[in-house]
Amino acid sequence: MSDKKKENIELECSHCATVSELTPVVTYVHQGEEKYCCVRCLPALIHG
Ligand SMILES: [Zn+2]
Repeated sequence: MSDKKKENIELECSHCATVSELTPVVTYVHQGEEKYCCVRCLPALIHG
């Protein structure tokens, strides 16, 4: 019997509003606030 629980959490990039369904989205904390950023916006975030 399979009793796997799959949670479908969908995150939205704070920068370009893409969703984790389409692009991997990572979470980070900035100044105590939790933010979301997709891998496409990540380089821009790193380089300021
Ligand atoms: Zn993005």
